[in-house]
Amino acid sequence: MSVETHPQPSLSDAQPGELIRLANITKRFGANTVLDDLSFTVAPGKHVTLIGPSGSGKTTILRLLMTLTRPDEGTITVDGDQLFPAPEKQIREVRKKIGMVFQQFNLFPNMSVLRNITEAPVQVLGMSGDEAEERARELLDLVGLADKCDAKPTRLSGGQQQRVAIARALAMRPRVLLLDEVTSALDPELVAGVLDLLRDIARSTDITMLCVTHEMGFARDISDQVLMFDGGRVIESGSPEKIFTDPEQDRTREFLSAVL
Ligand code: ADP
Repeated sequence: MSVETHPQPSLSDAQPGELIRLANITKRFGANTVLDDLSFTVAPGKHVTLIGPSGSGKTTILRLLMTLTRPDEGTITVDGDQLFPAPEKQIREVRKKIGMVFQQFNLFPNMSVLRNITEAPVQVLGMSGDEAEERARELLDLVGLADKCDAKPTRLSGGQQQRVAIARALAMRPRVLLLDEVTSALDPELVAGVLDLLRDIARSTDITMLCVTHEMGFARDISDQVLMFDGGRVIESGSPEKIFTDPEQDRTREFLSAVL
């Protein structure tokens, strides 16, 4: 399988070895400081998992990268191009490099599976309908749903809907794939299939992944690096072996013993 990424012109100097850079990010909702002077970088092609207690700011990181919410302070750079702060036109351009799969699939219920996948490449990237459809069919084949092109999402199981959502994200040829608790809404018997698909994608593509998950086995398998969040900060980071077997912080140990 090959999932190409989109060649993108650089708008500023890329930092070698960094695809994503968050620097001194603070995000507040009212009086609640959800991210507190947070900084981290992700190297190209790496798979980074965000773990930590509920409410520690993990999903907010993904939403910031997806431009669904904006930081109060700090800068975000993706592939050498500034995402925040930046003019709206630049934000829209940089945002094309990022795809996201949500917990609740977020498919368009009134569109066929095929159209769910072709819509953004045609509307946002200006791809021709034929090219977008050819690509969508390849991706549906990849996710094991070649026979569901004409189905409406509501006729599919949760696991199938999530596969369509994964195909839809990949159709934009993103440099970065954000996965936000993508199996949390699935019936237990459907979880393994979706995780296996994501493992395949992680193994066989050069897409950089940022993943929020409660599936610690999956996190351990696919991650190059694990970031442990608490109170809007990364309190510890390291290889999955290190974090899952010999964490430095008591807080990490407590969290893992509660979820493992
Ligand atoms: P996590 O993914 O680690 O569970 P989140 O990033 O979803 O944490 O949330 C972090 C904190 O931000 C929580 O206290 C949550 O209630 C708050 N929060 C998230 N989104 C909003 C919002 N749109 N409005 C107000 N508070 C929010």
